[in-house]
Amino acid sequence: MKCPKCKTVDLRATRIENDLPAAGCTNCSGALVSLLYYRDWAERHGSAAQPGQNAARDDVKDTTTAISCPKCGRLMTKYKISGCVANRLDVCPGCDEAWLDGGEWDLLKALELSHDLPAVFTDHWQRNIRRQVAADTRRNILRGKIGDSALAQVESFKSWIGDQDRRHDILAYLHATE
Ligand SMILES: [Zn+2]
Ligand SMILES: [Zn+2]
Repeated sequence: MKCPKCKTVDLRATRIENDLPAAGCTNCSGALVSLLYYRDWAERHGSAAQPGQNAARDDVKDTTTAISCPKCGRLMTKYKISGCVANRLDVCPGCDEAWLDGGEWDLLKALELSHDLPAVFTDHWQRNIRRQVAADTRRNILRGKIGDSALAQVESFKSWIGDQDRRHDILAYLHATE
């Protein structure tokens, strides 16, 4: 199998954890991990939160272009890891294999997601990330218009009104008296 990024470099048997085998590229440090082995590994290690290591984020690579599965040649599907990092994991739906770019396993550990990969690959997770990113974008646009301190007021009002039983009446009142 060739590295899907470097194309000409052969993947070699390696381990990303003592007991989690992978096929790694010595050139780009990427690794192909069988999700079958991964699930077994995650089960054996429980979902005890890993100590939040500070991954050197600068060292983490991410393939932004589409890559083909080294096993079957099919285009791999990209899954966002979280709203706060741009990294996406590539997964082959046919082979049940995930491609981790160099440093991405450590990034998952730092985000305490190394035991939760299957959750990352669900529609629910991906929808939540899109929602979070959209909310961040809207907040940034508003910040640009009204500034930091006014935004802080808006956020505090927002969390206050979220707890009010009569929030619809309050919002209707504000809207009508605009
Ligand atoms: Zn490579
Ligand atoms: Zn494949």
